[in-house]
Amino acid sequence: MPVNEIDHLLNSDRFSFDLTELRAKYKKERDKRIRTEGNEQYVEVKGDFSHYVDDPYIDVSLERKPLTDEVDALVVGGGFGGLLAGARLRQAGVKKIRLVEKGSDFGGTWYWNRYPGAMCDIESYIYLPLLEELGYIPKEKYTKAPEILEHSRRIAEHFDLYSDALLQTQVTEARWVEADKNWRITTNRDDEIRAKYLVMANGPLNRPKLPGIKGIDKFQGHTFHTSRWDYDYTGGDASGGLSKLKDKCVGVIGTGATAVQCIPHLGAAAESLFVFQRTPSSVDVRANQVTDTNWVKTLTPGWQKRRMENFNTLVSGGYEKEDFVQDGWTEIFRNLTGVLPPEGYEAIPKNKLYLATELADFEKMEKIRSRVDSLVRDESTAEALKPYYRQFCKRPCFHDEYLETYNLPNVTLVDTAGKGVAEVTSRGVIVDGKEYELDCLIFATGFEVGTSYTRRSGYEVIGQNGRRLGKKWEKGPTTFHGMHSAEFPNCFFMGFIQTALTPNFVHLLLEQSKHIAHLVHHAEKNKIGSIVASQAAEDEWCATIKRLAKSGEKFFRECTPGYYNNEGKADEGYGFIQNSYGGGPVEFFQILENWREQGDMDGLILE
Ligand code: NDP
Repeated sequence: MPVNEIDHLLNSDRFSFDLTELRAKYKKERDKRIRTEGNEQYVEVKGDFSHYVDDPYIDVSLERKPLTDEVDALVVGGGFGGLLAGARLRQAGVKKIRLVEKGSDFGGTWYWNRYPGAMCDIESYIYLPLLEELGYIPKEKYTKAPEILEHSRRIAEHFDLYSDALLQTQVTEARWVEADKNWRITTNRDDEIRAKYLVMANGPLNRPKLPGIKGIDKFQGHTFHTSRWDYDYTGGDASGGLSKLKDKCVGVIGTGATAVQCIPHLGAAAESLFVFQRTPSSVDVRANQVTDTNWVKTLTPGWQKRRMENFNTLVSGGYEKEDFVQDGWTEIFRNLTGVLPPEGYEAIPKNKLYLATELADFEKMEKIRSRVDSLVRDESTAEALKPYYRQFCKRPCFHDEYLETYNLPNVTLVDTAGKGVAEVTSRGVIVDGKEYELDCLIFATGFEVGTSYTRRSGYEVIGQNGRRLGKKWEKGPTTFHGMHSAEFPNCFFMGFIQTALTPNFVHLLLEQSKHIAHLVHHAEKNKIGSIVASQAAEDEWCATIKRLAKSGEKFFRECTPGYYNNEGKADEGYGFIQNSYGGGPVEFFQILENWREQGDMDGLILE
């Protein structure tokens, strides 16, 4: 029946678009953006460019002498990954936990990204972890960056992670010492720490990137990357009020999730603002709300886990009787069930599934595009702001002031028709032969993806037999369950490395930290010296990842270029989400749970 239903729908007047025409338009827009120049479209932030990653929040009171000692577990990274690993290890009875963090405080991405308007567009009640354990309820449905940073500190304090933390410290190398069955970790402060367990929570998007635009080093005005916002120059703070820009002509390169959040503040403050766009983001309704205290009273124990799982199931295309979160993320799947009969899309034959999701997606994106028309007065600006690609080809954005900013007389959208800025000069930037003179040029150009793991983490990891992780993962990560790699004992990876992708990244981190704590607890209870993945288990997991990735290949091939699909070259390498577990997060979390329940540590060598 569903087959006929879909065919019937196609021939009905339900859809305002012509399927063939829209597909052709998507393809045309995509092809316009495919670049042939390869990876040099980005400049590595080092050498002359290294000031772009200077820490604006240095705390001189953290200066200290080098340290030499031994701990039970060393966790690299003080973002939610490191914090959750620390919390769960603490709960598993691990005494000496040392977190090493580059910044002067915990918070990870929220430590660095303090740009005006920074907020999280995943619902706060599922994004901020451990709410029940810490007895905290976020102030709003979508939390702002300062509240997230505060919550990071709350977790660190609650689980006593500050006392042994090494802040403002960067790991320079981690080397496994087989004779001692521990890791020897060195840092840029000449510390030497031995640790039985090493947890790597470096973060997936931690290394800012700059576009490889000709002349990028020539600009003589002021410039910075959004992840190192220069409030000394702009004035104001994360809530806006950038008063020092009132006589400044500002340019922004990039229109991704970060730009969407900071552009309204720049538009409100700068004398003039030019936004240089290569690909428009899809910008849906935000509809933030203050937390309803009556709703809070209705919450019963276990509510946060249930809410996270409900969201996770829905955004993975699964069925839930009720949609707890009810927002733009889950809407596309509510949409889908609206396109189909009540039996739900699980009943759709496999050969019609792609078409069914495509239809729901097209319908959704038509609404996103008509939202642009309803909010942006100038017709050609509105047209340029319309995204013509499948919604999850790029990270969807949600904002209630972004599009309206283009109605301000001092704000100009410079659409580069998919080409990007042609050249940077000493005075400004050139697009289509025209020079735009600027006082300040802000790079909202995102973070490195697809470069090697050790380059992004900033240190080499040397396992058994002198095996270097950088070399081993030259062609991409190879793991067992995304968390272990053969020849790297007692070393656990966190994040999107051959694990499942979920928009609520913190949910994945929670599951991973639970898993790591389970492994460590098992090892300690049974007096096991080292845990390492067998080569066979790793090979099997890699084969599973590869096999399941097939189902997403068509989707990514057709997508507009971006870091999700290796900048449109999906066949040549892995994008951010292509090397993940294709069965989705619900299945992946279940695999981990079943594995723990099975209890035989299958796939691991214990010594
Ligand atoms: P993105 O990588 O998403 O965006 C970078 C932007 O820079 C894109 O618009 C890109 O254009 C543009 N760009 C890159 N090179 C050039 C060039 N040569 N010329 C012109 N434009 C160029 O980075 P963001 O910092 O916006 O976001 C990074 C990630 O951080 C997000 O995907 C999201 O996961 C996360 N984030 C999450 C938020 C949340 O609410 N939870 C909020 C903000 C960020 P093009 O699209 O054409 O490549």
